[in-house]
Amino acid sequence: MDRKTRLRLRVLERDDNLCIDCGKYSQVVHHIIGRGHRGAWCIENMVTLCSACHRDAHNRAARERHVDYLRKNYGYIYSGEPWEGIITNLG
Ligand SMILES: [Zn+2]
Ligand SMILES: [Zn+2]
Repeated sequence: MDRKTRLRLRVLERDDNLCIDCGKYSQVVHHIIGRGHRGAWCIENMVTLCSACHRDAHNRAARERHVDYLRKNYGYIYSGEPWEGIITNLG
């Protein structure tokens, strides 16, 4: 199993295979900061979403909601300036 597959499974396990927005069962993993914006393959940048919520995930309000969710588990990384800067810059 390669690293990306393992990461994907860890994210799904952390979120109990439930969409963090609506609670529906899902196997879709979303990068909060997209790879085109230097988003990392790390669990601190990935959340489980159902396909319906995923369609609505690439806007500022959704992104801030997802960051809030992860901040509870990974406060150390989300309190930093670089991350906030990336969120803000994506508008
Ligand atoms: Zn959903
Ligand atoms: Zn996505």
